Amino acid sequence: MLIAVYPGSFDPVTNGHIDIIKRASKIFDLVIIAVGKHAEKNVLFSTEERVTMLREATGDIVNVEVDFFGGLLSDYVMAKGAKIIVRGLRAVTDFDYELQMALTLKKLAPTVETVFMMTNNKYIYLSSSIVKEVAGYGGCIHGLVPENVEKALECKLGAV
Ligand code: ADP
Repeated sequence: MLIAVYPGSFDPVTNGHIDIIKRASKIFDLVIIAVGKHAEKNVLFSTEERVTMLREATGDIVNVEVDFFGGLLSDYVMAKGAKIIVRGLRAVTDFDYELQMALTLKKLAPTVETVFMMTNNKYIYLSSSIVKEVAGYGGCIHGLVPENVEKALECKLGAV
């Protein structure tokens, strides 16, 4: 069974993330979406809220699970018996950080491969940060995030 972990902050999950999750679920037997508990203070949504929103938004995909982790991603991935880490790539600006992460991971967990999936061109400039910024100023974020996330942002920021 080929298990892949898709780690991230998902603060909150966007349709760009969902696109990667759907495509990954067609390649791997099981995709574990792993919400990082790190830097809790700099996030808009708590770990529990981020996990709940992801579970609601991916409930219709049978081979996807949502979990959270603290500490080293390499330890988490090995504990789950996963061989693959999935990451999404948007513009070139993602590349340096992703390369650094992938190479560090290779040192810590040599048997684990990082697999990159190119963004859907509809979502090339979409990020959780831009969604929070637009929603924070009351802008329309319809179509950028799943509907449950749109509602959660509305409650949290009084936006939309
Ligand atoms: P992190 O803080 O670990 O970068 P994010 O939640 O921002 O976590 O992103 C998780 C992963 O999803 C990263 O690999 C990121 O490049 C990817 N990603 C984010 N937004 C998009 C998008 N619009 N299209 C494709 N991949 C994306």
